[in-house]
Amino acid sequence: MAKLLLLILVGVIAYKWWRSKQVDARTDEPSRPVENMVRCKQCGVYLPQSDACGGGAAWFCSAEHEREFHAKNKN
Ligand SMILES: [Zn+2]
Repeated sequence: MAKLLLLILVGVIAYKWWRSKQVDARTDEPSRPVENMVRCKQCGVYLPQSDACGGGAAWFCSAEHEREFHAKNKN
């Protein structure tokens, strides 16, 4: 019985050690902020906000699509 308890204890310690290792591995990564993904209103493609054109509620994958979208909505 004592052997079983010891096994469980070792298992718990190993699990906690593994979990802390997982956290360390994540924090070791270069801290890159999670980029906000936006969707092109014209073609529906997803892209990082920094690569997108437009702003506010309307984002576009390219200036061309921004122009196309506004041209389409004007008519
Ligand atoms: Zn597009």
